[in-house]
Amino acid sequence: MARYTGPSCRHCRAEKRKLFLKGERCSSAKCPINKKRPAPGKDVKARGKKVSDYGLQLREKQKLKRIFGILEAQFRLFYNRAAKKPGKTGDNLIILLESRLDSVVYRMHFASSRKQARQLISHGHILVNGKRVTISSYIVKKGDVIEIAASGKKMSVIRDSLQALTQSGSFPWVDVDADALKGTVVAIPERAEITDLEDIKENLIVELYSR
Ligand code: SF4
Repeated sequence: MARYTGPSCRHCRAEKRKLFLKGERCSSAKCPINKKRPAPGKDVKARGKKVSDYGLQLREKQKLKRIFGILEAQFRLFYNRAAKKPGKTGDNLIILLESRLDSVVYRMHFASSRKQARQLISHGHILVNGKRVTISSYIVKKGDVIEIAASGKKMSVIRDSLQALTQSGSFPWVDVDADALKGTVVAIPERAEITDLEDIKENLIVELYSR
């Protein structure tokens, strides 16, 4: 699967928002978004120019893709899948993205970013219901048990990430047993529960793909 390998912080500067792509650094004073540098690659005179509706829609899609670390082709597949489900396509899209295994591993605090979660998964350190799953886009279901495999139990990155569980608490749709390195998906989240994405205007993404 193709993936972006360039600098992550550049994405946050382009979106003028923390996308939390680099784990612990994102909450530290080292995060460059705190320094209010302008968005990359733009002519100084062009900054502040009125953005078209299309530009706003495109920007919103880029933001969501970057938060979840997905490239266009896979994002489009997720969108198509969301559009086929009953209910609002925008809500379905965000809920589906949140149900990806990499996102759930991140939400369980086994990884400090979705990128790190993808590494754990692709290296075979994650079990779902006792079976190794190496596909980050695997969609979890209510009741699924996510567990660190024996190969990952001593990894300091996992222990370090779990410290955030004591600091910031767990998300309502997962139940984590930090000592056992195991978590259960107790519910599939409602759109309104995903509060750190409340600024995302998914309706703009739906408008973009409906053109
Ligand atoms: Fe974004 Fe994290 Fe880099 Fe800050 S440190 S700019 S939140 S990726």
